[in-house]
Amino acid sequence: MLYVKDILLQLLFALTPFVLYTIYYRDKAVNYSKQFITITCMICLFMSMTFPASVQNGIIFDIRYVIMFFGMLYGGMTTGVFLLVEFLIYRLLIGGQGLVSAIIILSITFTLSALLSVLYRRLSEYRKLITFFAGIIFSIIPIVTMFGTEYQYTIQHLKFNILVMPVQNFLGIWILISLFNKAVSDKELYLRYLQSEKSETIAHVAASLAHEVRNPLTAVMGFLKLLKDDSITREKSRKYIDICLEEIKRTEVILSEYLAIAKPNHSMVEKIELVQQIYSIVDIITPYANMNNVSLEMQHSEDKIYVSANPTEIKQLFINFIKNAIEACTVHATGNVSIRIERQSKYAIITINDNGVGMSNEQMERLGSIYFSTKSKGTGLGLTLSYQLIRSMNGNVTVRSKSEEGTEFILSIPLTD
Ligand code: ADP
Ligand code: MG
Repeated sequence: MLYVKDILLQLLFALTPFVLYTIYYRDKAVNYSKQFITITCMICLFMSMTFPASVQNGIIFDIRYVIMFFGMLYGGMTTGVFLLVEFLIYRLLIGGQGLVSAIIILSITFTLSALLSVLYRRLSEYRKLITFFAGIIFSIIPIVTMFGTEYQYTIQHLKFNILVMPVQNFLGIWILISLFNKAVSDKELYLRYLQSEKSETIAHVAASLAHEVRNPLTAVMGFLKLLKDDSITREKSRKYIDICLEEIKRTEVILSEYLAIAKPNHSMVEKIELVQQIYSIVDIITPYANMNNVSLEMQHSEDKIYVSANPTEIKQLFINFIKNAIEACTVHATGNVSIRIERQSKYAIITINDNGVGMSNEQMERLGSIYFSTKSKGTGLGLTLSYQLIRSMNGNVTVRSKSEEGTEFILSIPLTD
C-alpha cells in the first residue's frame, strides 16, 4: 500500500504543469510560453524530488525523467538545461548513496529526451507511439542501471524497483502529455474561435452598414436624374452636384473606416487621436443602432486626446462595448447609449452608458471570462477580447450596472504625450 501512496503522490506532481496551465491561461488569448513551461517544470521537479518514493535512505525515485521529457517537448533545449542544472544542484544537496547512479541515469535520459522531443515534433503522426516508447525506456533505463551500480540494493528491494519505477514513469508521461496536449489544442481552437468572433462582429455591423450606404446612393441617383433636365439653372445644378459630392464623400468615409476594421491585425502600436477615432466608430455603428431603435449620443470634454494603441484593435474594442450597449437596449422603445470621452490626470476616460437590461452582481463578476454570454446568439468572446486589449494597453475597465436600469462601462487608457 505504501507504494501506491508514493506513486499517487508522484502522479499528482506530474499534473502540476497541466493544472497551472489550466488556471493561468484560462481566460488568456495566448497559448503557453516557454518561460511558463520552464517555471512550472522546475516547480514540479522540486516537489517530486522533495517527496520522492524511497525505501532506502539516499536512493530516491521520482518523476524527473517525465518532467525532463515533457519540459524539452514543450519548452525546448533551454528548459531542458534549466531542469538539468536544478536537478544536479538539488541532487548534490540531498546527497546519499544513489548519487552516482542518478547522474549516470540522468545523462542517458537527458540525451534521449532531447532526441525523442525532436522526433516528436517532426513526426506528428507517430506522437502517441513516441510517448509510449518514452514511457517504456524511461522505466527500463533506471532499473537496468541500478542493477549495474547498486546490485545489492536492487535485489533486496526488487518488488519496489520493478513496480514503482515503471508505473510512475509510464503513467506520469502518459497522463501529463495527453492532458496537456488536450488543453493546448482546446486553447488553439478557442484562439481560432476568437478570431472568427472578430469577423462575426464585423459582419453584424456590415449588414446594417449596407443600408446606410444605400441611402446616399439613392439620394445621388435622384439628384443625377434632376440634373438630366435641361431647363435647370446653372446655380441649381451646382448645388445638386455639391450635394452629390458630399453624399459620396460620406459614403467613402464610412466604407474606408469599415475596411480599416475588417482588415487583419498586423499594424503596430501607434499614437492615436481618440476623440476622432471614436467619432468615426460611432459613424459606422450608427446604422446598427438605428436598426435597433437606439439613439447614440457622443460627448467630449476636449478636442484631442492621444493614446498609444494598435488602430485595428482599438476600433474593435470600442465596437464591442458600444455594440453590447446597443444590444442591451433593444428591450426598450427608447433605448439610449451615450459615450463620453474625457481626460483625468494621466488617463483617457471613456464612459459608455446605456439604459438597457443591466446586469446582476453575478453577471458582472463573470464579465470578461470566456464564453460568458446571456444572449441566445452570443459568443461571450467580445468582452474577453476587449478586456485583454485594455489590459495590454495598461488600462482598466470598471463597470456599474443595475438590473432593468442600465449599465455603465468606464474604460481608462493611459495617455500619450
Ligand atoms: P456577447 O455579446 O456575444 O454575448 P460579450 O463578451 O460581448 O458576448 O458580452 C458578454 C455578456 O456580457 C453579454 O452576453 C451580456 O450578458 C453582458 N453584457 C455586456 N455588456 C452589457 C451591457 N452594456 N448591458 C448588459 N449586459 C451586458
Ligand atoms: Mg458582444
